[in-house]
Amino acid sequence: MLSVEERAWRTRRLEMIKRYEETESRADFIHEAWIWRILSEKANPDRSEVVEVLAKARELKGLAPAEAAVLLNNRDPELREEMFASARRIKEQVYGNRIVLFAPLYVSSPCVNNCAYCGFRHTNRAVSRRTFSLDELEGEVRALTAQGHKRVIAVYGEHPESDADFMCRSIERIYAAGNGRGEIRRVNVNAPPLAVDEYRTLKEVGIGTFQVFQETYHHETYRRMHPANTLKGSYRWRLFALHRAQEAGIDDVAIGALFGLYDWRFEVLGLICHALDLEREFGIGPHTISFPRVEPALNTPFTTRPSHLVNDEDFKTVVAVLRCAVPYTGLILTCRERPELRREVLGLGVSQADAGSRIAVGGYTEMEREQIPERQQFQLADTRSLDGFIYELCRDGYIPSFCTSCYRAARTGCHFMTFAKKGLVRHFCIPNAVLTFQEYLLDYAMPRTRAVGQRIIAQYVARFAEQLPKRVGRLEELLQRIKSGERDLRF
Ligand code: SF4
Repeated sequence: MLSVEERAWRTRRLEMIKRYEETESRADFIHEAWIWRILSEKANPDRSEVVEVLAKARELKGLAPAEAAVLLNNRDPELREEMFASARRIKEQVYGNRIVLFAPLYVSSPCVNNCAYCGFRHTNRAVSRRTFSLDELEGEVRALTAQGHKRVIAVYGEHPESDADFMCRSIERIYAAGNGRGEIRRVNVNAPPLAVDEYRTLKEVGIGTFQVFQETYHHETYRRMHPANTLKGSYRWRLFALHRAQEAGIDDVAIGALFGLYDWRFEVLGLICHALDLEREFGIGPHTISFPRVEPALNTPFTTRPSHLVNDEDFKTVVAVLRCAVPYTGLILTCRERPELRREVLGLGVSQADAGSRIAVGGYTEMEREQIPERQQFQLADTRSLDGFIYELCRDGYIPSFCTSCYRAARTGCHFMTFAKKGLVRHFCIPNAVLTFQEYLLDYAMPRTRAVGQRIIAQYVARFAEQLPKRVGRLEELLQRIKSGERDLRF
């Protein structure tokens, strides 16, 4: 049960949301009948139609929802392989073969909501929840940076203990916890939707991306999953959460859907509609898209039999279609997925992944086991260490990246998109990946990772020398300075 204080806080927030709903003039851009119509009109696409859509995707033009529906409905195995190859190629063209690494950092888990699929819902007595003190948080950050992480996504429950003011103070402490070598250089945020003035305070403390998942774009399913009279019960407050963030000047925003709540094809088109609406209004789509699947959570019956389970093959299609549809948007693959599947899906257009993740408050400092369901929101399927994951990335030819330069050089929002569209990722992101990976290898890597990592760096430097001969000298100079002890050097 909620305490008196929690109920009072929730009532005040509900009143604010109600006032917002009465005055918000934006139109809901999820037209369900239209989405179903295009899915049914494209139910059996012929070969030439699929080929045509893939050709457009490879030109990096992005796809309209009706074109994405063609790919979602394609059943031809040969064309499906061609779609996977196209997704790979698009990723390589836009982002290169690098994977940006991050870790989730659970700062608070108490929540006044009661979402059917969540272990942290307030009526779930089987899971314990808590909020870090700032000193405890600093210890957690040190444990993360000791692994080599430079980028986190700070996760907050919707609760009076973790309101916007607390978020600001905790983010300041995360940045301040660094000691030169070990430091967090970018704090992204996964938190409940906020009001414009609250977003402004977060912008002032220098957040990276603000992430809000709609969970499901299907209105009726949304209503069933998120009880009325909870803060998450308002579909529109959540649907326009990132529009408000943009209004407040936060131009890196991240969307996502929780796959397993409703039909996966519908959700993919919902994500694309969301991206298009942000682009229409602000000239910039989401910085990243996430596509987590429902995972088991303790004492949470819905998670053991999700109504629209997405199998692995369909999941691969989800990722490849998104890559084709939104070529300049990052795609995030998380440790919810099994290592074998992560290996496969990484090659379908993913640009960011977490590693060594723990998803409880205190997960990096207090948990003697990799997972303790009584403290987690859900369970992870990939609990490998950061170093183990990096070793595998290198073995598969990727360059792991801890780069945070764009954000610190103010290349966010439209600036980043323009930069990516001009193909400048090759000039900046690849060498910065090499430089930050060199730091990792020197400061944190196990011997076998260091050995394979140095080979990968040598290959990338050689490729860089072929493609951009005028800039390779600078790259070699910076690498040498890192080997001599300098840190945080970048293009
Ligand atoms: S999904 Fe988020 S809002 Fe819903 S109960 Fe869990 S932590 Fe709270």
